[in-house]
Amino acid sequence: MYPVRMRKLIAALFSLLFVLPGSILARAQAYNATPKLAVILVIDQFRGDYLDRYRDDFQTANGFNLFLKKGAYFNSCYFDYANTKTAPGHATIGTGAYTDGHSIGSNEWWDLSRNTDRVISSVEDERYRVVGTFDDLPALLPPPAPKPSDPRIGSSPINLKATTIGDEVRLATQGRAKLYGISLKDRAAILPSGQTANGAFWIDNATGRFVTSTYYMAKLPDWATKFNKGPRIAQAVKEAGLEETTQFFALVGRTPAANSYELDFARALIEGEGMGQRDVTDVLTVSLSANDIGGHQLGPDSDAQREMVVGLDRDLDGFFSYLDKKIGLGNVMIALTADHGVAPIPATAAKLGVAAARLDLEAFTAAIDATLNARFSPGKKVEYFMPTLELPYLALNAKAFGSVSEKDAEEAVIAAIPGAIRKLGAPPLPPNNSATLEAARKYQESRVDADPSIYFTRSRVDLADGKVPDTEFGRRVAHSYTDHGGWYVMVVPTAYQMEYLNSNQTTHFSPWSYDRHVPLGFFGEEFVPGLYRELVAPVDIAATFASILGVNAPSASVGRILTEALRPSPTGTGTH
Ligand SMILES: [Zn+2]
Repeated sequence: MYPVRMRKLIAALFSLLFVLPGSILARAQAYNATPKLAVILVIDQFRGDYLDRYRDDFQTANGFNLFLKKGAYFNSCYFDYANTKTAPGHATIGTGAYTDGHSIGSNEWWDLSRNTDRVISSVEDERYRVVGTFDDLPALLPPPAPKPSDPRIGSSPINLKATTIGDEVRLATQGRAKLYGISLKDRAAILPSGQTANGAFWIDNATGRFVTSTYYMAKLPDWATKFNKGPRIAQAVKEAGLEETTQFFALVGRTPAANSYELDFARALIEGEGMGQRDVTDVLTVSLSANDIGGHQLGPDSDAQREMVVGLDRDLDGFFSYLDKKIGLGNVMIALTADHGVAPIPATAAKLGVAAARLDLEAFTAAIDATLNARFSPGKKVEYFMPTLELPYLALNAKAFGSVSEKDAEEAVIAAIPGAIRKLGAPPLPPNNSATLEAARKYQESRVDADPSIYFTRSRVDLADGKVPDTEFGRRVAHSYTDHGGWYVMVVPTAYQMEYLNSNQTTHFSPWSYDRHVPLGFFGEEFVPGLYRELVAPVDIAATFASILGVNAPSASVGRILTEALRPSPTGTGTH
């Protein structure tokens, strides 16, 4: 037997033997310090505290640890705006700009010039058709155009008013670099990749087949058709614990099986399109949807959420190991982030004493309607709001206001809000002088449930004029201005309060920290590994990638180049 110290030395030498050749190879393959593939990986609804919270559970070498141990990891990354939803989040990551720059304010909104029956989605585009679902139909349908609810309506970045980092790489290489986006959701595939993408792929909600739109191509590539026709869909259904399903998105999409399903499609794309094999930097955005689809129901503090995160760690380990084998990790640059965080389930937070509450939006707007009717149309029951309501922008029915100007209409709504919110809550305790002994004792001995309350309101007209408080909060509100959605009033409930949701237990939409906090990790030759505690934002990804790749920042970019995590320039010209 060798002494312990000797054995340790031998073990260390052995591990060096196994570790070194790989990394040397990877470095040797690196092309002129320019990555062959840049990947932006977005986890839908993944709060910034998860990686610290579950750190001890990560058993793989190249899953989340690729960022935590071998990469540059920022644990204080916060979106600097007030509308923390999926579509704006993904647009922000790709463009390095906020809603006031890229124009995407929500997942859907009213656009009466395009549809008077329902809200339109952020990416639907009736000029195009879905490709890949309806094999029996020609992709380009002859006129007349399909009805507004026709599932064949295609999608595009029609509403995205800024370029993405991928777009800038495409411009800089005059289209030689390839750019693709993948997600289960159309908006999360289309918005982060951008206007010049060669393709964006998402799934048909019923079958789980990956589809695209005639905006990108008239026919699915052969490799994608092969993937759809292969065994992978049935395998994912089985892994989700189901025999079969016609609700792939809802039932498989909420399980960890959906992550490996998506990442397998990403591998098929990398193979099929030959990504990362040439002297230009190809760009791939992958948005993993399962955490959001499941997360709304599970809440951030459940065991099932933890299992989802640990399962994803294993899937990422598999995907990154594949990239190492295929392209060499020395040739790959990866950013990891999320489109938004999430609030704790109100009842969970309330148990600890946080003033969490649910706001019944229908009752709230009905109470405002009553006040507006008394003022503008006595004796009538006019509905002054559009039928589909989503915080933080409450859409007004401009027609219902008749000759009242937008400014006056929005101000009338804001003036009616304090009265409406009082109607929702229980009477305050204790009523000062007339308090009964019993009520006073109850007040002193236990915490009463919080009443819903509104923290901030602002009219669209004032937001358009930049009339916001000269504070950090005001800047976030200004970043959330959108010219989509007609007349609206921005309404921000007090922290930990949210609208009433049917089967969903919790959600995200607000300017509060739990909705804005996301992880930010980088891996790549250009980055100095370590934990960085600076306050950073997801808009910094595009700016930092643009600097590394030597291309223009996206058109509306407001991000900062994260020089603290970048290696000095190898030529000695210096980047610090
Ligand atoms: Zn969500």
